[in-house]
Amino acid sequence: MNIILFGAPGAGKGTQAQRIVTTRNMVQLSTGDMLRAAIDSGSELGLRAKEIMDRGELVSDEIIVGMIDARMDQDDCAQGVILDGFPRTVAQAAALDDMLRGKGLALDHVIEIKVDEDALFARIETRAAETGGARSDDNAETLRKRLAVYHENTAPLLPYYREKGVLRSVDGMASIEDVAAQIDNLLE
Ligand code: AMP
Repeated sequence: MNIILFGAPGAGKGTQAQRIVTTRNMVQLSTGDMLRAAIDSGSELGLRAKEIMDRGELVSDEIIVGMIDARMDQDDCAQGVILDGFPRTVAQAAALDDMLRGKGLALDHVIEIKVDEDALFARIETRAAETGGARSDDNAETLRKRLAVYHENTAPLLPYYREKGVLRSVDGMASIEDVAAQIDNLLE
């Protein structure tokens, strides 16, 4: 089973993805985590990505699609993947469709975690406090930009997947356990 967890920054995609990893034999593919690993490794890609991420903008489709394509060829992805933070543009979604077709795989579910945007500022503030400011893009100013980018580039994926008949939504304002239960129901 291959699924996409979809939602605005701070909606809880990563938290729910990690939970699915522990309850089902699936691999979480977070493009944000991959980019942060590249930053930590000090690679040239990491250096370039950091500037873009700190501005709250999107890293190029070509780099992102290349990263996911290579990662999905690894053996541990054969059981199924949870895509977290990818795709983020219609071009990435189209590339994912081609990629899955080429690998003989299918997209089973796209789960939108719906949240009130006002609540995201408090959530990001909490995450920054809990992680000791590990993510330099976790601040109100960058979040405003990330939300604008989300509306312009990522929200158009909702009608894209609705038309394909794979889009489902859960109430992301509920507790972590409740959101997890809603997702479990959809995956049953
Ligand atoms: P995230 O951890 O998913 O919130 O991503 C953090 C940042 O990494 C984003 O604000 C973007 O700058 C970059 N990023 C992550 N995933 C993607 C993607 N699929 N396409 C473009 N940029 C991405």
